[in-house]
Order: sequence, then C-alpha cells, then structure tokens
Amino acid sequence: MKKYAVIFAAVFVAVSALSAFAAAEDPIGACIYKYDDTFMTNVRRAMLAEAERAGQDLDVVDSQNRQPLQNDQVDTHISKGVKALIINPVDRTAAEPIMQKAKAEGLPIVFMNREPYAEVMAAYDKIWYVGAKAEESGTQSGQIIADYFKAHPEADKNGDGKIQYIMIRGEQGHQDATLRTEYSMKAMKDAGFEIVELGSDTANWDKVQATDKMKGFISAVGIDNIEAVLANNDDMALGAIEALKAEGYNMGDPKKYIPVVGVDATAPALEAMSKGEMLGTVLNDADNQGIAAVKIAYLAADEQPITDETLGYHVTDGKYVWIPYRPVTAENYREFMK
Ligand code: BGC
Ligand code: CA
Repeated sequence: MKKYAVIFAAVFVAVSALSAFAAAEDPIGACIYKYDDTFMTNVRRAMLAEAERAGQDLDVVDSQNRQPLQNDQVDTHISKGVKALIINPVDRTAAEPIMQKAKAEGLPIVFMNREPYAEVMAAYDKIWYVGAKAEESGTQSGQIIADYFKAHPEADKNGDGKIQYIMIRGEQGHQDATLRTEYSMKAMKDAGFEIVELGSDTANWDKVQATDKMKGFISAVGIDNIEAVLANNDDMALGAIEALKAEGYNMGDPKKYIPVVGVDATAPALEAMSKGEMLGTVLNDADNQGIAAVKIAYLAADEQPITDETLGYHVTDGKYVWIPYRPVTAENYREFMK
C-alpha cells in the first residue's frame, strides 16, 4: 500500500511538472540599451506590467550601453527559443544586423526608442517601431520657453528682444537629440523671437554630465547673460539646474531665475517643477510606448495582424506606432504625477 502511494505520488509530480512545462509559453525576449537611464527604466516597468497583465513571459536584459553585448544577448534570446524580440538598440545603426537575425528565424521584432533607418524597416515584413515624433517634443519645449518670454518680458534680461540660451543635447546620432535641438530652436523663432546660442554641447542624456557642461557654460559666458536653458531630456535639465543652484539660482528668488525646459516628464522633473526650480517639460509617454511594444510582440507572435483595432494604438504604414508627446507646464503638471 505504502509502495503504491509512493509510485502514485511520483507519477503525479512528474505529470504535473510536464503539464506545467507544456503550458508555459515561449517568452518574449527584450534588450534595453542600458538600465541606467531614467526614461528607459520607466518604459521597462511599463513593459513588465503589460506582460504580467496579459499573462506573457517577458525576459528583459540590460545591454549596458554596449552594442557587442547586445548582439550576443539577441543570439541568446534566439537560442532560448523566444517567440518575438523587443529591441532598444544601443546604436541605432546596429538595427540592421539584428533585424537580419530575426528575419533568418522568421521572428517578429519590435524596435523602440532608437529608430532604425527606413531601409532596415522596409527590409522585413515582421518588423515594427514604437516611438515618438521627436520633432513634436522639440516644438513643444521651444514653445514653453517662448510663452514664458511673452508672459515675462523681464526674462529678456539684457532687453535686446532676443533669447540668449544654452542647449544641452542628448547622445550624438540619436534622432531625439538631433530633432529636439532643431525643432526647439525653430519653435522659438516661429513664435517671433530672435535667438542667440551662447553654448551647445552634448551631455549624453546624463544628469552628471549636464551639471559639468552647465558649470562650464556659466564660467565661460557668465550666469547674468544666460536667459534660458533647453535640454533634450529631463535628466540633463535637472543636471543643469544643479549647476544653477550652485550659483544661488532657481531657489525661490525671482531675480535669480533662469527658465529651464526638458523632455520626458519624469517624476524628479515634475517634483522640480512643483518646487519652482524647473519651468516645464514634455511628456514622453513611457507607459504607452512600453505597452504598445509588448502588445505588438505577442500579437505578432500569435500571427495576428497589427492594426489600430487589434493593437489599440494608431499604426502608421503598418509598421510604426507614434505615441504623442504632450506639453507639461505649471498649469497641468500635477496631472502627470503618479
Ligand atoms: C529620452 C531620454 C533617454 C533616451 C534613451 C529619449 O527618448 O527622452 O531621456 O535617455 O530616449 O534613448
Ligand atoms: Ca535677451
């Protein structure tokens, strides 16, 4: 009797282990260019939450800002048998060989945040891109500065009718850095201002680098001559604000204030806005970018069409999902606080 009970138990364990194995679906394999990035961390959280909600297994890894490492991680995902890939490339020009790997296996691949060139997007039928139109964020951040100058004539400290500004740019070669820079300048001009660039440099999306660069600009041109700071993302805007605070600026004295705008609407940026340290930002919608990427991956792996109806997001040219940006100012920033 005892013997039968043991055999029965053993068979039961074996059968349930097997059925659990059979029920487990192949995972989706994802790579994030680096975990040490505030915005991409928010995107990653949204991806994991969506995977959990949809009962999908999502295997995400940190590419540590190294493209060769990411290429190996893609191979590992493929050899583990993932059903789809979601890739945030370290270097957008490396999207082509990664696309080829997916294509060779017939695997759906979703790129995000760093847009592959159009030729790469055209070379495979199971490729998608989820991102945001950087032009929009540039325009909106330039408009926030222009609106401020219209409402506050004293912001034109030297009274020459022009905006003397500092531009802190994101990583060289990133479409968001190039286009935000260009379109924020254009928006100030379109609003009727002449603009004078006192300094412009990259700080690679990084807060600490931005503090250093801003300190350099302050000593080169003099803080009294700087009338505005535009940063391609919030981490760099906050870094620039650190440098301003070190000079006693943006700490409550209205005579010692320089308007600073960023992009992303991260929690620390919204917090800085609530303290009056930062003028404004632009929502870069991490939640919806993360959700859309994961949805495309599991729908495509299931051979479902990717349309506005199946996805719940607008799909452009069958391959692109552009999540809109939104201006965030003193009037509405509270809406974005979580
Ligand atoms: C975000 C930055 C981020 C970068 C990473 C941009 O869209 O605004 O904050 O560092 O993407 O690729
Ligand atoms: Ca001026």
